[in-house]
Amino acid sequence: MAESTIESILEEKRLFNPSQEFAQQAHIKSKQEYQQLYEQAKTNPEQFWADLAEKELDWFQKWDQTLDWQPPFAKWFVGGKLNISYNCLDRHLQTWRKNKAALIWEGEPGDTRTYTYAQLHREVCLMANVLKQLGVQKGDRVAIYLPMIPEAAIAMLACARIGAPHSVVFGGFSAEALKTRLVDAEAKLVITADGGFRKDKVVSLKPEVDKALANNGAPSVENVLVVQRTEEKVQMEPGRDHWWHDLKAGVSAHCPPESMDSEDLLFILYTSGTTGKPKGVVHTTGGYNLYTHTTLKWAFDLKETDVYWCTADVGWITGHSYIVYGPLSNGATTVMYEGAPRPSNPGCLWDIVEKYGVTIFYTAPTAIRALIKMGEHHPNARDLSSLRILGTVGEPINPEAWMWYHRIIGQEKCPIVDTWWQTETGGFMITPLPGAIPTKPGSAALPFPGILADVVDLDGNPVKPNEGGYLVVKYPWPGMMRTVYGDPDRFRRTYWEHIAPKDGQYFYFAGDGARKDDDGYFWIMGRVDDVINVSGHRLGTMEVESALVSHPAVAEAAVVGRKDEMKGEEVFAFVTLEGDYQGSDDLKQELKQHVANEIGAIARPGDIRFTDALPKTRSGKIMRRLLRNLASGEEVAGDTSTLEDRSVLDKLRGG
Ligand code: ATP
Ligand code: MG
Repeated sequence: MAESTIESILEEKRLFNPSQEFAQQAHIKSKQEYQQLYEQAKTNPEQFWADLAEKELDWFQKWDQTLDWQPPFAKWFVGGKLNISYNCLDRHLQTWRKNKAALIWEGEPGDTRTYTYAQLHREVCLMANVLKQLGVQKGDRVAIYLPMIPEAAIAMLACARIGAPHSVVFGGFSAEALKTRLVDAEAKLVITADGGFRKDKVVSLKPEVDKALANNGAPSVENVLVVQRTEEKVQMEPGRDHWWHDLKAGVSAHCPPESMDSEDLLFILYTSGTTGKPKGVVHTTGGYNLYTHTTLKWAFDLKETDVYWCTADVGWITGHSYIVYGPLSNGATTVMYEGAPRPSNPGCLWDIVEKYGVTIFYTAPTAIRALIKMGEHHPNARDLSSLRILGTVGEPINPEAWMWYHRIIGQEKCPIVDTWWQTETGGFMITPLPGAIPTKPGSAALPFPGILADVVDLDGNPVKPNEGGYLVVKYPWPGMMRTVYGDPDRFRRTYWEHIAPKDGQYFYFAGDGARKDDDGYFWIMGRVDDVINVSGHRLGTMEVESALVSHPAVAEAAVVGRKDEMKGEEVFAFVTLEGDYQGSDDLKQELKQHVANEIGAIARPGDIRFTDALPKTRSGKIMRRLLRNLASGEEVAGDTSTLEDRSVLDKLRGG
């Protein structure tokens, strides 16, 4: 099956056990306990999730059927009624949590706000009533285009409260990207702000909304609700545009939550577009609530006293599931930061950890690599002793970056939770449970209980240990996407037909290659679209990049395939260097040899190009498809609207 699988060449042997102290206090305390849960869930998934749904969530009415599976369409907790904003807010008000900090927010200029559960509930009710006043009804779609300010979370919860599905559009997207999403979702209202602060700049948002709506660009939009943040002057169109602070003053703070069907649409979220045209991923209420609640509780061992901080943007699934819904459903304290590390304040993340005593910190490999480049003197100058768990998501983490995270940020005592999941999966799929599962740098470890993940060939047969293949899930789970908005056929085609169903078995496949090692640990090898075929050997990008990053001169690396007459394809590497290093022919030779030594001659790059930066999506993922075009001297093709910084691409094109 050489054609259908991927070869693995990287060997990483380091293993880190949770300390006894940590394991003893954890929700899931041992490998054995994990295995029991896993077996129990595998034997009877419906019962497993139904028990949790009963225990962890409040329902207005119990469901009649746990799972209705008409492949590839799943319904969970059919007939059940609930409201996710009730589970995130109201139910905590009946306990001492009423006056607990729900949301701690820090603005980039240094202003701060803290909302207790009671205060957050009040704000959400006010916004819900404003939305109703503006004619939003149950089922109407609302677009949220905001910076990272508390109103983003408030808006999402307000929509959920009245049963209006939200579509959060990342605040860094342009008018054009916003327009496409408004049109696709037929949004009735947009919630935005004058702007926000990021990397010492004012990012204007309202003018982008104006552009998107100009010339009847998104005819479904009737009203725009505007939050004042930067106090820059903006145009307000009479009748269409309304200030949040004005309308808020005129509504009641009483707004009972709508009783929602478990399968009612909760939100649409367009994927970040690393690989092509964004898809409107559909998530519904009951299953998503349960899944984000439970995965966060177990994978981050969430406790009442934790101060939990996820640095993602609410515009991504990570922000939805693990800044807003997951933490609040659990009654936790969630931290939100408006800004990002920047030359004027490269240590800002560590200041926040110190200031609020953050105990759980969750970020992405791209951020970790940037922090490494900024130097360890920044974290070293802060007190990070409050931290007890670290997390990572978004791309495969190179083992060397993992080790830095472990040593410098985790001070060798914090388990690292490497969570593999996707917009489509709603929540974590493969992840260590930090008190139960020893970790290996670069591996996302084992599937969450209830997740029947496997690595298979194109025919759906499991591949042997240590052989690469397609990462699939073989049974529905509560947090899974239900469809592509308005295009069920695209849903089927994109996710369920790549590996054809056989004997009634369906395979969910969303594009990643992986291998399992002898201990059953999963190693994500990168996207299968990015696989490089060298003389018939199919190489994943992750392993070659990790070999490059393990050289002291290399900060970040991206490899792509370039046509080669002899070998079919050869490895072409784009490399950014650590501060003290200069690109030279000697260094190229050295790096090529380094890769050959680390993982074998087959992966030795044919060519290396040094660059200041790599093209990334706005969520920080390397866009290898653009690099592939560049490496072979072709015009850059496909959608580039999600590119973070056009100038990176222009520079690479230039020479
Ligand atoms: P699109 O699907 O539109 O191309 P995207 O895949 O980047 O965009 P997301 O859903 O945000 O959109 O990202 C999910 C992908 O990110 C995964 O399929 C995987 O490739 C990568 N990923 C996420 N977490 C991890 C992880 N812990 N290890 C390795 N890869 C990861
Ligand atoms: Mg994807």
